[in-house]
Amino acid sequence: MIHIPFNKPYMTGQELGYISDAHANLQFAGDGAYTKRCSAWLEERTGTKRALLTHSCTAALEMSALLAGIGPGDEIIMPSYTFVSTANAFVLRGGVPVFVDIRADTLNLDESLIEAAVTPRTRAIVPVHYAGVGCEMDSILAIAQRHNLLVIEDAAQGVTSAYRGKALGSIGDFGTYSFHETKNVISGEGGALLVNTPENVLRAEIIREKGTDRSRFFRGEVDKYTWQEVGSSFLPGELTAAFLWAQLEQADRIRDERLSSWGYYHDRLASAEEAGIVRRPIVPDTCTHNAHMYYVLLAADVDRDTVLQCMKQHGIGAVFHYVPLHTAPAGRVVGRAHGALPVTEALSARLVRLPLWVGLTRNEQDEVIHVLLRSIDLAKGKAETR
Ligand SMILES: *Cc1c(COP(=O)(O)O)cnc(C)c1O
Repeated sequence: MIHIPFNKPYMTGQELGYISDAHANLQFAGDGAYTKRCSAWLEERTGTKRALLTHSCTAALEMSALLAGIGPGDEIIMPSYTFVSTANAFVLRGGVPVFVDIRADTLNLDESLIEAAVTPRTRAIVPVHYAGVGCEMDSILAIAQRHNLLVIEDAAQGVTSAYRGKALGSIGDFGTYSFHETKNVISGEGGALLVNTPENVLRAEIIREKGTDRSRFFRGEVDKYTWQEVGSSFLPGELTAAFLWAQLEQADRIRDERLSSWGYYHDRLASAEEAGIVRRPIVPDTCTHNAHMYYVLLAADVDRDTVLQCMKQHGIGAVFHYVPLHTAPAGRVVGRAHGALPVTEALSARLVRLPLWVGLTRNEQDEVIHVLLRSIDLAKGKAETR
């Protein structure tokens, strides 16, 4: 029987070699040679002032909340259609997520609704670049400037993507990347914080190193290191960084191969879109993306559970995505929705993500499309007889 998984981690082939090298050099703690290589690559590729490897994107978001000085009652504007870490990072500091609706085309934060959600307690805007496609950053930066707010980009899915030629994550005050196994470039668990303003670099290094100025000590800038401010341990060990280096070296090839599969789905589903059966992803002209995800939106009258179940029975790993945070048990308590979120609620219920990974064959993609369209047909038939 056919089995096409939703995700399959891609190995470049150098991972074990670099890990073995770190092992031979007896480098296991963080900030060794491989961490430095990864940071330098990220800095060169994104133009950020400082890229700091973290043990996850979640950790990088938590660092951003500390750097932003978020305290009890501070409000942070973000989409409800996102991963829990976007909100948790700020809630841990006593912050209140204020959920704003998304755009129907990209499923990104709707910049036209942000300003009405700003209050005297608002401290930051957190745009999430869904599927590695950039938010409308020019408008978001302008709003942030008018109201003196920080911009923290959740670019977890956006490694190697750009908005108007600028790397996602390098546009706001801070940006966060994920190298989790399900992302494009991976290290199992892993992430990075991009610090885009020079005045925050030293504080970011301190917060990441348990609140100490250990990194200055290692650079010979101070003769001993001490506790400077509240921090934690956010850095990955060298074995993780060695693995990551094997992936970053191949980041462009990984992106290009994914783009090729993405484009194939997109071409092959054009007629289904014309027939009103699915809606395909929309990438604005301002964005170049990394093919992190291929999704379709089902018509409102098609039962998604039936489609997913039917695809699963035929061996296809298609999955839905976020349950909007404002409707989740924790989100209802610790956050608040800014008005109704009709686009979030409607589109999150209609979205289906298709298998996409390096090595996926055209035959497998044809099978995915075939089963998807048949499953939709079946789900429709079922809806009509109800
Ligand atoms: C994956 C993801 C995260 C969390 O990344 P981790 O590295 O697993 O902590 C946060 N936000 C978004 C939008 C994500 O897709």
